[in-house]
Parts: sequence; structure tokens; C-alpha cells
Amino acid sequence: MPSITRRKSVDVNIGGVLVGSSAPVVVQSMTNTDTADVESTVQQIAALARAGSEMVRITVNNDDAAQAVPEIVAGIKAKGWNTPIIGDFHYNGHLLLRKYPECAKALAKYRINPGNVSIGRKDDDNFRTMVEAAVEYQKPVRIGVNWGSLDQALLTRMMDENSRSSDPKDARDVMMEAMVVSALDNAAAAERYGLRRDQIILSAKVSGVRDLVDVYTELASRCDYALHLGLTEAGMGMKGVVASTAGLAPLLLAGIGDTIRVSLTPTPGGDRSEEVRCGQQILQSLGIRSFMPQVTSCPGCGRTTSTYFQELAERIQGYLVESMPEWKRAYPGVEELKLAVMGCIVNGPGESKHANIGISLPGTFEEPKAPVYVDGKLFTTLKGDRIVEEFQVILDHYVQKRYGSGVMATEAAVEPPVFAVLN
Ligand code: SF4
Repeated sequence: MPSITRRKSVDVNIGGVLVGSSAPVVVQSMTNTDTADVESTVQQIAALARAGSEMVRITVNNDDAAQAVPEIVAGIKAKGWNTPIIGDFHYNGHLLLRKYPECAKALAKYRINPGNVSIGRKDDDNFRTMVEAAVEYQKPVRIGVNWGSLDQALLTRMMDENSRSSDPKDARDVMMEAMVVSALDNAAAAERYGLRRDQIILSAKVSGVRDLVDVYTELASRCDYALHLGLTEAGMGMKGVVASTAGLAPLLLAGIGDTIRVSLTPTPGGDRSEEVRCGQQILQSLGIRSFMPQVTSCPGCGRTTSTYFQELAERIQGYLVESMPEWKRAYPGVEELKLAVMGCIVNGPGESKHANIGISLPGTFEEPKAPVYVDGKLFTTLKGDRIVEEFQVILDHYVQKRYGSGVMATEAAVEPPVFAVLN
């Protein structure tokens, strides 16, 4: 796959994780627990980290939350995770960061929303106080502009100027420009107040896909700060996944974006880690990073005899998700593995040969047997009612043999003794 030329941006070290054009695009997430509830927040951060979130943001919205931060950071470390914890501040960050220095020290980065840090003020003293805390504790900041909380004084001024212009722009274009200006002006102010360029990340989030592409394309062309991408308030389920993918993909393919977050609305009691897996899948589908073995499976059609083929695809997918935390440690490179689970002979053998391991199940009127291909060659043919278990044995052996030493084998990785296990 041709590589993508990343937009050149300044690298930022966030608690040991590098973000910028010389580092891979980082996947981050945000908790939805009450930050003051230390136990629930630690549990959720650990679950997000286990799913692969490389940074986790927590809201720091009041005294109780700020006081809980050092305990949360210690709790995560005690669980064996070094995941940087980012504090999300709105309205009162200037007060909390000064009142709770242990919170300010424990966080790996502060997110500042320039649209609500100085509401009702003519100066930017609150913003400056937050930046000075970052300078004092040597923490990077993300200046995170959001169209839902865009600096209203700035927007009004720009709208007024536009209406007086001889060639006024569309209101939507003025809004996009106001977001870019808000991010860049505040970044310049942060530098004046003592932050280095390699301590600043920018974001300009909107909830419309076309707006997202336009605002980030413009922002990227006017600075070299590292950029955090995300479609804000992406929505629930399929809508959120599709809209986020549609918005992030053109930017990432253009080399824009150094970290991403997928802001899915979870179902009540749903798994928050979905947003992490979605972010990873976007990057992996675009060929930017690999996180997880990929299963190619056909949609099935009138030639598939039963739901057996869907069940097999689902079980293999579930087995991969379950195995990956351990496999990632034991088998470096396993995330590049490609599997194929196909419903019949039409595309089954062909697709299976392109994968590391592929299985082609019997379709209607085909002989009840399932050829398995390993590294492009017919390896064995499975029959009977233990096809899933036997396929899993082949998969386990392949992973152990090919990735076990940490060095990729050049030959077909599964050797004949695997038959002994199968019989
Ligand atoms: S591989 Fe076979 S079962 Fe799957 S969609 Fe194609 S024709 Fe249908």
C-alpha cells in the first residue's frame, strides 16, 4: 500500500507518548464517569487502555474532581498502565489548576477551551493563568476549539466585519474562519505566556463532516502545530461510526492529524471502549497503523446454506479480540495478520489465498468440506462439526510459529505437526 505523506508538525511529548509528524497517529479516548468517583474512573481508564487507548482524557469540572486526579493517576499506575491522563477544563480551569497543584502536577496535559475560559471578560487572564500553570509544571496543552462553545465575542466581531465588507462571505465560512482564528490566536498567546511550540496541540471540532474537513484543511495549511482530530458529538451507533470515518478519512489520507478521538455516544450501559476500537479500525482500514488481525469475510448471499458461516466469522473475530491483549505482548507483529472467512467456492479460495490463513466454507450444493489455506497454499480441509475449534488450533499454531520469536518467519509458518493436534 502506498504510504501517506504526513503534514510536517512539531512533536509534542505527552507524558511519554509522542504526538506529531515523526510519531504514529495516536488514538485517544475520554471517560464518562464522574471523575470524583475514583474507583469507577480508574476502572474505566484501565478498560480504555486495555482496548488500546494511548491517552485518556477525564473531565476536571469541580473541586472534588480536581482532588481525585492524583489518586486516579496513582490508581492507573498501580494497575500497571502508564497511560497519560489528560485534564479537560472548562470555565473554572484557572481556579482548579491553582487551587490544586497536586492535580496540576499529576496530569500529563491540560485541555483548554478558549471559548469558555474567559466568558464575560475583556482580558484573557484566565487563559493566561492556565498557560502559566502549564509552564510552571512543564505540561503541554491542547487548545481545543469547539463550534458549540466558540468564543462568541470573536465570532460576533468577525460576523460584523464580514457584514460591512463589500464582498461578504457566507455565514458558514465566517464561522469556520473564526474557529481557525480562535485556535491560532490562542496558540500565539500561549507562546507569549511562555509555552514552547512543542507544548501546544490544536483542535477545531465541529459536528458536520464537510465542515470538519474544511476547518482542519485550513488550520493545517496555516500552522505547524500538532493537530488533534475528531468529529465532535458524532452520535450513536452506526451514524457515529460512519460520520466519524467519513470526516477523519479524507484528512488522514491527506496526512493531516496527529491524534484522533471518535466521540461516539454509547448506549446506556454500553461499552465505552467501542470508541477506541473504532479509532483503531479507521487507522487500520486506511493502512496507517495496524492494531488487530483483520478478518476479511464476504457478506454471504443465496449460495450460503446457513448462518454457520456468519457464526464462524463472528467467533473468530471474538477470539481475536479476546486473545489480542496477551498476543500483543507475546507475539510482536501479530496485528498484521490477515484472515479470511468466506461463504462459498466463488470467491472463497481466491480471497483465502490472499490472506495469511483463509477458510472457504461449503456453499449450497457444494461438498460439505472447508479448505483452509495458509500463506496462499492449500493446507488442509476441515469437515464435520468441529471446524471452528480446528480452525482456531491452526490459527494459534500459526501465530506462535510466525510471531513467537519476535522475528517474522519467511517460510509458511505452520508445519505438518499441527495435524497431530487436529487429530
Ligand atoms: S463468496 Fe460465495 S457466499 Fe460469499 S458472497 Fe460471494 S458468492 Fe456469496
